[in-house]
Amino acid sequence: MSFVQLTKEQTEQKLAFIEQYKWKGNAATLSSLDANANVETKNIATLESEINKDVNIQINRAMMYNKIAQLYWTPLADEYIRQLETHEIYKHDETSLKPYCVSLNMFPMLTGWMKRLWLQAEPPKHLKSFCWNFINLVYATASQFAWAVATVEFLLYFDHFARKEYGSDYMETMTEERKRDISQLFQEVVYSINQPASARWYQSVFWNISVFDKHYFDSLFGEFVFPDWDKPIYKSLKSLQELFMNWFNKERTRAVLTFPVITAAMLVDDEKPVDDEFAESVSRWLSEWNSFFIYQSKTVDSLASCCRLRNELSDNTFSYSLGAGWVATGSISVMTINFNKLIQEWRSLSEQIDKIHKYQLAYREITKEFLDANLLPVYSAGFIQLEKQFLTIGINWMVEAAEYVWLTPNNNKSYIDFVSSQLKIIYDKNKQIKKETWVMFNTEFVPAENLWVKNAKWDKQAGLAVPRDCYNSYFFVVEGEDTFASIVDKFTLHGGDMTKFLDWGSALHLNLGEYLDQPQYLALLNLAARTGCNYFTTNVKITICNDCGNIDKHTLTSCPKCGSKNIDYWTRIIGYLKRVSAFSEGRQKEESARLYHTS
Ligand SMILES: [Zn+2]
Repeated sequence: MSFVQLTKEQTEQKLAFIEQYKWKGNAATLSSLDANANVETKNIATLESEINKDVNIQINRAMMYNKIAQLYWTPLADEYIRQLETHEIYKHDETSLKPYCVSLNMFPMLTGWMKRLWLQAEPPKHLKSFCWNFINLVYATASQFAWAVATVEFLLYFDHFARKEYGSDYMETMTEERKRDISQLFQEVVYSINQPASARWYQSVFWNISVFDKHYFDSLFGEFVFPDWDKPIYKSLKSLQELFMNWFNKERTRAVLTFPVITAAMLVDDEKPVDDEFAESVSRWLSEWNSFFIYQSKTVDSLASCCRLRNELSDNTFSYSLGAGWVATGSISVMTINFNKLIQEWRSLSEQIDKIHKYQLAYREITKEFLDANLLPVYSAGFIQLEKQFLTIGINWMVEAAEYVWLTPNNNKSYIDFVSSQLKIIYDKNKQIKKETWVMFNTEFVPAENLWVKNAKWDKQAGLAVPRDCYNSYFFVVEGEDTFASIVDKFTLHGGDMTKFLDWGSALHLNLGEYLDQPQYLALLNLAARTGCNYFTTNVKITICNDCGNIDKHTLTSCPKCGSKNIDYWTRIIGYLKRVSAFSEGRQKEESARLYHTS
């Protein structure tokens, strides 16, 4: 292997980068590329992860260039580079060689296949060894993906091992001592996974789990059998879900726990959730100041396993060798279209999609070659299969594109028609390419934690009409949220008309000045069902005292415990909670413009 000799100038640039990193700004602002890392502090590990990102990008582009040229033709490879360099498209996490994100099928944990990930892994026999193995599994998996890891079966498996440990009626015969033991295990798992990991350059793992209503449970796990012939029991899981949600909610008054991001999945009809008991629980959790995502569907054939991911469950038959294989999904790669530029330059959306399909298929080939070389053992161990993962087309700056064609981006028919007509073109193309290649494509509104500042700057430099310094990655204009004010408008705007052609995440973030009571939250669940807003969360800014460390779930201007005005807030930057002071500068500006509803 040859040694790459930097020029004197290149070496000096790197040294200057280190000096700048030492003294200026927080970790998110300083990250020159891909600052979507959930890093709260800067240190030597985060510096090391930053210092050669530019090199990684060049290697990534070269691999893509060669692969596109090999599979298609050289002019298309040239076009890929041109589109990236002129910011017509954006390849997410181009600094990483890894596939993007994953929702795991946990079954191989129980069949001995975990040995393919690390040697000492025997299938767990007890609740404690399950938890220990689970933590390792999440870490081992996260090290092979650039972004999130979802384990929707975590509580289901926890319940299985708890029933083995304490007996099948352990929830009904709960003692204080047992409750303490279980809480202790929750604590070990959740705190371990929230620790910054060296394998991830001092970022903690982005971890997601789910809780289910009765109907989702029946559909997902009704046929499920553990290797020892035990079958999941909803009554038991339901009580465990309750215990976990209460524990996690309370624990978040003690520590800033970002993960897991939790999604409550529920079946709805045209008016309301079908499982009344579950809706009662969910609205109560929210009224007790908990915060999580809610996923609603009119059929139980799709599942949102994290703040981004929504997949169609095309085949939910149980397999004795693979378990609930249908929960395995994810995205191999995300490439995003700069919609403002596309519209202003009068380019054909359809042609763009054809090109991106080819780029993405080339990326998938590269991933497949890594897999064939056994560099992605999480795949060879059976936790995920390439065939179950999507290639994702991202969309950004739709609001600015609409404004350019004289539309007002709020709850009005012309705007909704404009957006859905664009989305339909992509949706149809994705269906078509699946027929031709058997590879699944999907579409999402990407949250773009930092890109929106950069894209606005680049477009301005290119002479495009740029109405604001920070683009919007929502369906509406953040700083003008009050122009359509009502909560009903927001649900409508994220409702069925808008999202029917969007098959990946587009969550409504409903920011509130204060918590609602249980009947009000129940009314929100019903409103979501009526409008077809299938994915949403509520946020009340949490107050953290920088002096005494007190955490208060309300939005306050001083610490209620010590009176200090030296406070920080904790809110969702995108899908997950983060200290506002750890946001990048651009995002802090955007956060300050958000409207928190007070009525
Ligand atoms: Zn205080």
